[in-house]
Amino acid sequence: GIYLDYNATTPVDPEVYARMEPYFKEYFGNPASAGHHWGWAADNAVQKARGQVASLIGAKANELIFTSGATEANNWVIFGLISKLRNENPYEPIHMITSCVEHSSTMKAMEAAQKLNVEVDFLPVNLYGQVDPEAVRKAIKPHTKLMSFIWVNNEIGTINPISEIAKIAKENQIYLHTDATQAVGKIPMNVTELGIDLMSFSGHKIYGPKGVGALFIRSKDPKVQINPLIYGGGQERGLRSGTLNVPAIVGLGFAAEICQRHLYTEAARLLSLRQLLWQKLQVAIPGIRMNGHPTERSPNNLSVTLPVKTDSLLSHLQKLGVSTGSACSSGAMTVSHVLRGIGLNSDQAQSTLRLSLGRWTTENEILRAADILQNAIPKKIV
Ligand code: PLP
Repeated sequence: GIYLDYNATTPVDPEVYARMEPYFKEYFGNPASAGHHWGWAADNAVQKARGQVASLIGAKANELIFTSGATEANNWVIFGLISKLRNENPYEPIHMITSCVEHSSTMKAMEAAQKLNVEVDFLPVNLYGQVDPEAVRKAIKPHTKLMSFIWVNNEIGTINPISEIAKIAKENQIYLHTDATQAVGKIPMNVTELGIDLMSFSGHKIYGPKGVGALFIRSKDPKVQINPLIYGGGQERGLRSGTLNVPAIVGLGFAAEICQRHLYTEAARLLSLRQLLWQKLQVAIPGIRMNGHPTERSPNNLSVTLPVKTDSLLSHLQKLGVSTGSACSSGAMTVSHVLRGIGLNSDQAQSTLRLSLGRWTTENEILRAADILQNAIPKKIV
């Protein structure tokens, strides 16, 4: 089969796996064990990983807290801030701004925040899936405490104007959080230069292991303060307790190093493969449409709406690992809120495929994938 679902998850790079392995075996120590070399070895490895991850995103090592992934990091930002603000003043109103095309881990957490009497605005996006910075500015209220916007959309690949939004957040002294799960390792970034306050991301989208990720928390100008989500033994400067998942953290660190080493060449390679795929599909399937921004998009993502619903194609697409724009949950069709957010109707969303390329995608695979798709479309339509 041909795996074109790298936005869902990536395989662990064999080099990453090799670096992780000793930390399951001889270096099994607990980094919190400060009294012996088993502990020191583990602690050194975690410190090294923190530096590798920091370097990829332009942060300082002490600004990173390891989490179980981006879902946890996104939840933590929202509930950790609410908890902090309510501790300080239980009666002060809290307002947060986000968009209608966020990952479910932000969207559902924001909905849960509303039930805690937090006022949340879900801003609409343009037809490409981008938030308008001026709309963000207009949505600001005296009690706005957080803005949270996805950097690169996981379904349609669109890049949000995070740098402009960061300026607006800074002018108004409001924390800016971004879910950069699909941006890290794919597009160059420097969180310090951009003035981002909080940023979530995950290991398994960058050829690291699943179940590990990080939250970047700016340490000064301003020092960002949120309460812990998980209390306990005081690991991660008391912000995220629990024995560290050392092998996974080592894996995330080395995965970040590899991404940094090849960032520009890999982005260029993926972009040209994606353009080839789009070129082939446009010729092969009349009426096909690309979703998301034509240029302001992640190099690896192609979201297309076909002239036919995808459920009728699935038997032809078994050899192709791709995602659809709708999911069948207990017999009912649930259409992606992202596709709805960019104005697709239910039929169009049900005709949408996400093809996402990655480190092991080859030109040959792209040509074969285009053929498979072409052959899957009923001839009377083409
Ligand atoms: N945010 C985005 C944009 C994602 O694509 C994903 C991946 O599913 C997540 C958050 C969740 O990440 P994790 O699986 O690490 O919790």
